[in-house]
Amino acid sequence: MSNNISRRSLIAATALLAAPTTLRAQTSARLLIIGGGFGGASAASFARRHYPEAQVTLVEPNTQFVTCPYGNLLLAGERQISHITHSYDGLRARGVRILHDRAIGIDAPAKRVRLQGGDTLTYDRLILSPGIAMRWGAIEGYDQAASEIMPHAWVPGDGTQTLLLRRQLEAMPDGGVVGIAIPANPFRCPPGPYERISMIAHYLKKHKPRSKILALDAKEAFSKQGLFQDGWRALYGEMIEWVPGNRDGKVVKVDPRERVLETEFGTRHKVDVANVIPPQSAGTIAIEAGLANDTGWVPVNTRSFEARAAQGIHVIGDANIPGPMPKSGYIAHSTAKQAVASAMAGLRGEAPPEALYFNTCYSHVGTDYGISVVGIFRPNADGTAIAEVPNSGGVSPRGDLPEQRRLEAIYADTWYEAITKSMFG
Ligand SMILES: Cc1cc2nc3c(=O)[nH]c(=O)nc-3n(C[C@H](O)[C@H](O)[C@H](O)COP(=O)(O)OP(=O)(O)OC[C@H]3O[C@@H](n4cnc5c(N)ncnc54)[C@H](O)[C@@H]3O)c2cc1C
Repeated sequence: MSNNISRRSLIAATALLAAPTTLRAQTSARLLIIGGGFGGASAASFARRHYPEAQVTLVEPNTQFVTCPYGNLLLAGERQISHITHSYDGLRARGVRILHDRAIGIDAPAKRVRLQGGDTLTYDRLILSPGIAMRWGAIEGYDQAASEIMPHAWVPGDGTQTLLLRRQLEAMPDGGVVGIAIPANPFRCPPGPYERISMIAHYLKKHKPRSKILALDAKEAFSKQGLFQDGWRALYGEMIEWVPGNRDGKVVKVDPRERVLETEFGTRHKVDVANVIPPQSAGTIAIEAGLANDTGWVPVNTRSFEARAAQGIHVIGDANIPGPMPKSGYIAHSTAKQAVASAMAGLRGEAPPEALYFNTCYSHVGTDYGISVVGIFRPNADGTAIAEVPNSGGVSPRGDLPEQRRLEAIYADTWYEAITKSMFG
């Protein structure tokens, strides 16, 4: 095993265990968490472990959580939905009060949250992790109805979108074209679309080898680009065509009935299966609560994750503007701990603890071909900025390194097991 890879896997392993060093709360504070995904479930789990005196309530509409991570392997036929579905029973057993409901309004001055089911909850501190919302209409013709024909498969939900895309791939004839529309930054999971391209190619190579993937991108460059493109050439030959924004890759309009993706300069691509990943914003509840700025994302204090627009509301996960940090499940998990520790410190009138945030994003290019990018980030003392720790991160080395790729695919599997276990017990 190379030094490079062992250092990275060590960072990944220790980061999952790391917790902000702070005093335990001496109070039975009411911690209310909205959203039971990577940020919210991590916060609930961490709060119960480290602050047993606190009353922790989690509001989440779905009774099970289907993860986006490993959803691309489901598209490849390499995982079943049961592999990526997690129950809230473990959190319940740890003493988290779980309400399967939807938050529909936040009254920040009164510290109250209204639920769709009619209840109103009060809190001492609120942790908000609602994930993303799709910007319907940002691509002309792409609304919720269109997403039932051209799935985005970009939110966890109950897995409906990912399963729909899988069924469409299964039904496509050999020789068909899969069109994928990819948005500009920032969006959820920067390497996600390219792992998706890889996993769809893996499926097509096995079952429909005359087919093609047309990836239309609004950007000119993407995460782990050299590594992905090396892998595509090695594993899938000419199957994948990636079209960057400056070569007319930006999709601006769709026609779901005709299955057409139309680009900025008017090129109409008729495809057999269309996966449209549209531009995104913070989850609707964060926007309606007035926490987002005109970017559509929520500015936060980088040490406490408190929203700039409302004290006592800590916004974590993809909904916030995380400086140079990616919108990833790993960052949501890492920053959830800091948000809880800061909330509890705040209730004691103390400053947020010192912090480091960790990220490792693994991607599968093939089932036994993994690559990764690592970053470690440090907020400044007053929470106004955040920077990558110099020389702390990096990406997998390029070159013909089959053993390294094989090991990284295994590390990805163990990362997934460790993080979901830490979130859901
Ligand atoms: C295909 C794909 C692959 C990915 N792979 C990886 C990977 O390998 N590694 C990685 O680190 N990240 C990966 N990600 C990114 C990761 O999924 C997200 O960064 C992560 O889910 C963000 O966590 P979150 O808590 O912000 O949002 P989510 O995990 O989406 O959770 C939000 C939750 O809030 C709930 N909610 C929303 N509104 C309300 C409301 N009003 N009231 C109550 N509940 C509400 C939702 O139902 C949802 O359960 C991937 C993403 C995609 C799309």
